[in-house]
Amino acid sequence: MALRTWEILKIRYCPQVSKEVGLEARLAYPAEWLPDQPPRVLAHRCSEALICNLSDRATCVWAGTNPAYDPFNEA
Ligand code: SF4
Repeated sequence: MALRTWEILKIRYCPQVSKEVGLEARLAYPAEWLPDQPPRVLAHRCSEALICNLSDRATCVWAGTNPAYDPFNEA
């Protein structure tokens, strides 16, 4: 049976919530171990996106309110 899990890819400080947040990916691992097959990425999310979705301000692409700003792409 395939395994599906959320894993943290990056951690960044986000000024919108004044703390560190994680960029997470939903990964699907194959049922059997195959050396040449990486896990499939099914989705991405921010660990604190729910807080931003409840805010009345435009925040970032992961909250779905500002597609022009992605805090995880900054150096
Ligand atoms: S959704 Fe965007 S603005 Fe909100 S905490 Fe996550 S990275 Fe920061």
